[in-house]
Amino acid sequence: MSSLRLTGFSGNEEIVRQLELSFGGGRLAHAIILEGPAQERNALAAVLAKAAVCSGTARPCGECPGCVKAQAGSHPDIFTLEGDADPRAFPIDAIRRIRSDAYIRPNEAQTKVYVLCGVQNMSEASQNALLKVFEEPPENVLFLLTASSASALLPTVRSRAQIFSLEGARAGTDIDPAYMEKLAAAVTAVNETDLLYLTADLIKDKNRLRAVLPQLGLILRDAAVLRSGGSSCLSGQKEAAAALGAGLTREKLLSLLDEVQKARRALDQNANTALLVTALCANLRAAAGR
Ligand SMILES: [Zn+2]
Repeated sequence: MSSLRLTGFSGNEEIVRQLELSFGGGRLAHAIILEGPAQERNALAAVLAKAAVCSGTARPCGECPGCVKAQAGSHPDIFTLEGDADPRAFPIDAIRRIRSDAYIRPNEAQTKVYVLCGVQNMSEASQNALLKVFEEPPENVLFLLTASSASALLPTVRSRAQIFSLEGARAGTDIDPAYMEKLAAAVTAVNETDLLYLTADLIKDKNRLRAVLPQLGLILRDAAVLRSGGSSCLSGQKEAAAALGAGLTREKLLSLLDEVQKARRALDQNANTALLVTALCANLRAAAGR
C-alpha cells in the first residue's frame, strides 16, 4: 500500500490533505486542475507527476529510478507541455497525439502522466479535443492541468476534472503590483483618462499585455469572491480586489471578468493589439456601468 507525501506547500495544507487522502484511497481523479499562482501550481503538478511514477511506498520517495528520471525530466511516462510563456503550446495536433497516446500502456511506471502547464492559454478547439479523452479516461492515466484560473477553461472540461485552488506564497507575476492596483482602480474611476493612460503602453508591448490580462482577471475573480463572502485570494492583491469589489456588484464584477477573458482569447487569436486594448477599455467601462 503506497501513500502520497507532499512537503513544501505551506499555506495549502488543506489541499495537500485532500490529495493525500484521495491518493491513499485510490480515488485520485483522472484529471486534476491546479489553479493559482504559477510557482505553486506548477511545483505541485511536478511533485504529483513524480509521485505517480514513483515505485516507493511514501511517494514521491525521491530515490527510486522513477523519481530520479522524473526529477531529471527524462521519464518516458511523463509528458509535459509548457504553455505559461507560449500561448501556442497547445496546438490541436498535439492534443490529438496525446489523446491517442493515452490509450497505449505506460512504458515503465504504473501510470502515464500528462502535465499541461498554463492551460489558460489553450484554445477552445484544443480543449474540445482534450474533452474527448476526459469523457472516457483510459486506465492508468493522470492528467495534471495548471492554470492561472480554471475559469479560463470550458465548463465541460472543468466539470470532468477535480479542481484545486492554490494560494500563493508570492504572486505569480512579474508585473508591478502597484501598477495593477492603479489599473484595477482605473476601471471604475470617474473618467476614462486613467484607464487610457495606464493601458497606452500595452498597445506596443504584447508580452506585457499577456501578463497583465491574467493578473487583472485574477483581481476581478478575487473581488467577486470577496463580494460573495469568500476569502480565497489568487491574485496576491487582496487590497486592490477589495477596493474594486466594494464599488461594484458581483454581477458587474463577473461581466468585467468576462471582458478580460474575451480579450485574452482575442490575444491568443492574434488580434490587432491597438484595437483589442481600445475595445477592452470601452467594454470594461461599460461593464462597470461607467
Ligand atoms: Zn520514488
